[in-house]
Amino acid sequence: MELVLLGPPGSGKGTQAKLLAERFLIPHISTGEIFRKNLGEGTELGLMARRYMDQGVLVPDDVTEAMVRQRLTESDAQNGFILDGFPRNLAQGEHFESMLTELGRSLTAVIYLVVGRKTLIDRLTGRRVCPQCGAVYHLILDPPKRPGVCDVCGSALEQRRDDTEETVIKRLEVYDQETAPLVAFYRRRGLVQEFDGEAPVEVVTRDIVQGLEGARD
Ligand code: AMP
Repeated sequence: MELVLLGPPGSGKGTQAKLLAERFLIPHISTGEIFRKNLGEGTELGLMARRYMDQGVLVPDDVTEAMVRQRLTESDAQNGFILDGFPRNLAQGEHFESMLTELGRSLTAVIYLVVGRKTLIDRLTGRRVCPQCGAVYHLILDPPKRPGVCDVCGSALEQRRDDTEETVIKRLEVYDQETAPLVAFYRRRGLVQEFDGEAPVEVVTRDIVQGLEGARD
């Protein structure tokens, strides 16, 4: 299973990627998560990426591409992977295609999650995350048992720096202009499987698993 998850910010890519990774025993590779981890550790990469992430724009392609290439060569990614947040524009899509050819690999499918604009804004601005264990909540749709406290590990929840309304609007604009064209790019290659990302989490996962099993037959 060599999968790419495509869809706007807030479409549930991270949530589905985590579940699919457990199901298919493949690593969930989120470029945004790698940048945030680097930022948390204060590395040079993290500090550089922060300038872009805080504005809601993309980190330069060469940096992101090199990071993905390195990650794909690690041992746990040899039997498959699920990419969440990469590629993010046509240049990355083209580059990724050559990278996979060089590595002797090829995509199984591109999972495209469709969600309306209002739902995306509500989901992103209400999202709260646990900086310790990565659990994700929503103030209204999926609140923790104790306000502001992670159910899993008891840490204080935080809002992602780029989940403020202003940055969310910018991120959605960047998605429309730069990322959305990848849907047609991958459709031309016959790889896109489209799903209703507004359905409940477990329904979306079930539909994706069924779709992938159909594609394998
Ligand atoms: P995400 O966690 O996927 O929402 O990504 C958060 C931020 O990380 C994005 O708004 C970008 O600034 C940066 N980022 C994540 N993936 C990429 C990528 N493939 N190319 C460039 N920037 C990225």
